[in-house]
Order: sequence, then C-alpha cells, then structure tokens
Amino acid sequence: MNEHDSERLRALLEGQGLRRVELPEEADVLVYNTCTVRQSADERLAGHLGTAARLKRADPHRRVVVTGCLAQAQQEQLFERFPFVDVALGPQNLHRLPEALGANEGTRCGYFADEPVMSGDLPSHRERPYQAWLQIMSGCNNACAYCIVPFVRGPERSRSLAAILAEARRLAADGVREVTLLGQNVNAYGNDLPGRGMTFADLLDALDATSGIERIRFLTSHPKDLSERLIEAIADLPHVCEHVHLPAQSGSNAVLRAMRRGYTRERYLELVADLRGRVPDVALTTDLIVGFPGETDADFAATLSLVEEARFEAAFTFIYSPRPGTAAESLPHHVPEEVKRERVETLIAATQRVARERHQRMVGRRYEVLVEGPSRHGQAYRGRTRQNVTVNFPGPAQPGELREVLIEGATSTTLTGRLVNG
Ligand code: SAH
Ligand code: SF4
Repeated sequence: MNEHDSERLRALLEGQGLRRVELPEEADVLVYNTCTVRQSADERLAGHLGTAARLKRADPHRRVVVTGCLAQAQQEQLFERFPFVDVALGPQNLHRLPEALGANEGTRCGYFADEPVMSGDLPSHRERPYQAWLQIMSGCNNACAYCIVPFVRGPERSRSLAAILAEARRLAADGVREVTLLGQNVNAYGNDLPGRGMTFADLLDALDATSGIERIRFLTSHPKDLSERLIEAIADLPHVCEHVHLPAQSGSNAVLRAMRRGYTRERYLELVADLRGRVPDVALTTDLIVGFPGETDADFAATLSLVEEARFEAAFTFIYSPRPGTAAESLPHHVPEEVKRERVETLIAATQRVARERHQRMVGRRYEVLVEGPSRHGQAYRGRTRQNVTVNFPGPAQPGELREVLIEGATSTTLTGRLVNG
C-alpha cells in the first residue's frame, strides 16, 4: 500500500511539472513517504532526515516533505523533532500535496485529518506498463493488539464497484495484464457499503468477467474473514491467480487470543486444508510475528509446527515491535531482545526449508510466467508464475509477455527453467 501511495505521490508531483531526479542532492523537493508499522521503519526515516537537514542547510529553498503513516502517527511532534520539515501529510491526505507545496515557503503545514481521500482516486505513475496496483479499500476495522495501522489509516472504507471496475478497464486498455487489488483486509470488502450487498467474492466475479485483466491478485486476506464463497471464487475464476497471502501471525492459540486475531490455530489449518483441497496448485504465503508479549517457548514451538503443517510457499517473519498507543504495548512479560532474535532465526530456517521443499515439487512441470524483464543477475530473464513464484530463465523474451516455462531447478525463493517453444 505504501509503494502504491508513492506512485500516486509521484503522479501528483509530475502534475505540478516536477520530475524525479536520481540523487537527493539534485532535488528541489525531497519527499519521504513513510511507514511506521515497526520501530525499524521509524529509525530508518530518522537517518534519511539527517541527509535532508544537511541539504536544507546547503539550500534553504529546498522543501522537505514527510508523508504517510509515520507523519500521521506523530503529527505536530514531527515538526518539533525535525524543525526543517516544511510539509507533513497523513496517508489519507496525500491529495493535498500540490496545495501544500503551493503554500508560502517557510510556513510549516501538516494535513492529518479533514476530508480524507482514498489515494486510489488520485492519478498514478506506474513502474511497469503491464502491472498495476489497484486500491479497493482503505483503513482497517480490526484491533490486532500489536498493530498501529488502524490508528494511522483510519476505519475501513470500500471504493465503489463502479470506481474499481472503471479503473481496471482503464488499466487493461492501457496495456496492464496483471493487477494486485490492495486493502488491509480485502476479505472485508463491501461491509461498509450501503446495503452491504457486495462482498469481495462478488468484486472478483465482476473483475474476472468484465475487466479485461488477465491476472488478478489481491493483498491481504484476513483468515477470520475468508469465506467458503471466496475460496470457490479463487478456485473457479480463470483470471484470479492461485495465490493467497494469509497472515497467520502465530501458531499458538494463547498468543492468537492475546493478539485478538479472531481465529484459532485449528481454524487456520482448516482454511489451509480447504484452500489446498479446492484450488489445485495454490500457493499460500503468510506473515509471522515472534516475541509477542508473553510468548513462551511452547508458544513459539507451536508457530514452528504451524509452518510444518501449513507448508507455506513463503513467509515474512517479523520480530514483535512495540508500537505507541497499541494494546500490546502495555501488556506484561515482554520477551527479551536476544530471545526474539534467536526465535526469528530458527523460524527463518524452518520457513526457508519448507519453501524449498514446496518449490521443488514444481520441478519438471510447466508454468505460465509473466515476463518482468532481465533478472538481477546478468543475461537471464525474470518473471512470475500465477502462484507469484519468481522464475529465472534464459531469454529471449519481452517484458509483459505471458510465456510457458519448464521448471528445472528450485530454491527457497526462486525457480529456474527454460522457455517452452522458445
Ligand atoms: N493488514 C494486513 C497486514 C498489515 S501489516 C493483515 O492483517 O494481514 C503487515 C504485517 O506486519 C502484519 O501482518 C504483521 O505480521 C506485521 N506487523 C504489524 N505490526 C507489527 C508489530 N508491531 N511488530 C511486528 N510485526 C508487525
Ligand atoms: Fe493491523 Fe490486524 Fe488491521 Fe492487519 S488486520 S492492518 S494486522 S489491525
């Protein structure tokens, strides 16, 4: 979501006649679009703002802008901590960037609340002509005990079906073959719309039938809201990709309860079995947190065994980071830093081993790959299967093409192969 917000900011700035430069030293306007989901993101920003302060001293006409979730979390305090910042915008006020830059130099302005606008309704500058993000909702109505997102992105608001379909058709006409629908919890799509008649499965039906987009992906699915009907839609709709990112967070029922996730380990594994049973070749990926307050060795062992049972194709592993104002911040029994580090390393080793085993099953089979261009390592090309697994292969191929690749090798993160009929 943050990356997509950056595309929107870029288009807003281009609308003002500005263009991107490669080095901060060359910029008249410095924009930092921030994340605050973990403490490490805050620390990184403080480092970047050190550069901004130096550049502003060198040229006081330079404008320094901080946008996004950290700006929203700190609001006026941001100007106190970093007095050289000219403009701060929360994630629901990104549309005010041109107005803020037009205001008199030297007057600091922060925009944090009034008339929130969904960034999906703003112009966008896409990185790749054939891939796009598509925001279907903003905010989050859940209250996961560790999470700051609902505080900074506000309550859930769904975009209308008409607006989403219009954007998807526009993207398809513009050459986009793959869209990723974005929301903190896409499975809750429509709950806030008048009449509550629309669900996420209905939205997928409509996009599949009429948008002209060849590959439809979505992020993120909350396990407590993953319905039978949605599993059916993923299984049946030809354009909807066989990949579900389903953050489990923990494998321990005690921790899941303390996190207020709204499901048990057993329910989660039931969903995994349903998805694997109903959607042939589905890839399941997840987010896991270690070191939530009160997490015991036995709780952590339950997370490890969840990885073994669910057999994820990939997992993002996070060390619990206390966030200001969240319920977990004031819980007792915070886990010592070195225990968290040890657990995350054990967990990473387990998730990588399982991912490698999952990917090795794909060797010897053919997969449709959307070519994304030359790979990072020299001549070879890179693309992704419908399961969202990266494949490296020797070309020749054109970025944006859909090609068939025979898989010949696999690691925990990537596949290698060669073009069929190449
Ligand atoms: N809305 C999405 C996730 C948004 S945040 C969802 O519910 O699935 C992305 C991931 O960051 C979360 O899934 C969680 O694993 C992690 N995360 C969020 N807050 C965190 C915190 N305080 N410490 C560590 N990880 C956190
Ligand atoms: Fe945060 Fe939970 Fe909402 Fe995801 S569902 S954004 S983890 S509060």
